[in-house]
Amino acid sequence: MDERIEKIELPYPLDALEPYYSKETLKIHYETLYTGYVNNTNKVQEKLKRARESNDYENIKCLEKELSFQGSGAILHGLFFENMGPPVPTSPSINLMEQINKNFGSFEKFKTQFSEAAKVVEASGWCLLVWVSNFNKLEILQCEKHQNLTLWGCKPLFIIDMWEHSYFLQYKANKAEYINAFWNIVNWNIVNKRFEKIRMVKNTIHPITKPL
Ligand code: MN
Repeated sequence: MDERIEKIELPYPLDALEPYYSKETLKIHYETLYTGYVNNTNKVQEKLKRARESNDYENIKCLEKELSFQGSGAILHGLFFENMGPPVPTSPSINLMEQINKNFGSFEKFKTQFSEAAKVVEASGWCLLVWVSNFNKLEILQCEKHQNLTLWGCKPLFIIDMWEHSYFLQYKANKAEYINAFWNIVNWNIVNKRFEKIRMVKNTIHPITKPL
């Protein structure tokens, strides 16, 4: 059985996000950096397989850490590229908007909290809108590197890459300008689809915060 993970296809041409996200940045980001995370995830999976076969676990700590870093990098980049799209107007569905209003007060309040949280992600990381099934609500999370700071079991709905490679070529150190521009290229159709998948199962999941 082939257990290799695959890159997602970029769902639009490299220049499709212009002028908000430059072709140059997207090309490096998708073709070089994302490819690296996918390849490295497959490499570490191979090394773990060899460790099991040879019963040699001398490097297990390093390998498990590498799996978390490279694997999370591969997953988050796939989600990120998919939840962007050409700057044509899309909007949250009625169901998603209802949930946003319930959990954040209004769309504007959600957007402000997300932008403010994204701006102050420490060092290299991400900002994410996630569904937390155990809380039965949406939350905004900051993530450091690709794997640190999460709520277990959360489902990312839409995310922005706050590593410098994601904006520095185009926006230099102006994170606020990058974040403002990003709102123009959110593909809400994809975010809505992700939320609908969650809605289908959310009432069947028994939160572990309640006694079984
Ligand atoms: Mn990145």
